[in-house]
Amino acid sequence: MSPVIIAIDGPAASGKSSTARAVAAGLGFRHLDSGALYRGVTLAAVRAGLPRPFYAADVVAEAERWGVDLRPRNGDFEVVAMEPVPDASLRAAVVTEHVSEIAALAEVRGWVNEHLRGAALVGEAVVVDGRDIGSVVFPEAQLKVYLTASPAARAGRRLRQRGEAVDPEQLRVETEALAARDRADSSRAVAPLVQAPDAVALDTSDLSFEEQVERIRWLARDRGLAIHD
Ligand code: C5P
Repeated sequence: MSPVIIAIDGPAASGKSSTARAVAAGLGFRHLDSGALYRGVTLAAVRAGLPRPFYAADVVAEAERWGVDLRPRNGDFEVVAMEPVPDASLRAAVVTEHVSEIAALAEVRGWVNEHLRGAALVGEAVVVDGRDIGSVVFPEAQLKVYLTASPAARAGRRLRQRGEAVDPEQLRVETEALAARDRADSSRAVAPLVQAPDAVALDTSDLSFEEQVERIRWLARDRGLAIHD
């Protein structure tokens, strides 16, 4: 049977992963974080000491050699490289620094997408978050949500997440950094960040976390997608 898919896409710091996790938990779905797999592949390339610029075939070969994969866990999937990869390793600065370059490689994207599709079959009902989930990976998703928030709202959330001061100067610097990532993600040749034509746009600038999660759950229930509430 085809899996039931809810796709949540959006720019950096739009709250996709935390929202997707909460939506999945509320509906009895499994959460699948596509960015985490890009990070796992990047970690393998970095650990292997691959020189830059990265070549797609070498990156994919290292991902295979390190056994990078997604393994079902309670309520979600964990990234493994033979063994479970700790979240701290996936989010290490060196990985964040290189992941966008690696995610721009078409062959790497093909490899990741195959793994995401395989995981969705195992998961049966999944909430998948990323940047090209509704547009490229699961165009057949039963519900697609495109999360946005103003650059200032996203910058403020990022600073608070990191426990940093939210003063005007910090906000300006963070807003510029986010805008630069948005430009890179939206302008790359392969699978750029775009809103799928049939996605529901949800601007969360003035919504609380609970409100944005509830809106998506409501959309899912409206389409008869909830397993339980
Ligand atoms: O979501 P997260 O920030 O962990 O994703 C890490 C990186 O992986 C992003 O900066 C983006 O370049 C890439 N990515 C992507 N397509 C996705 C998910 C993530 O290109 N579906």
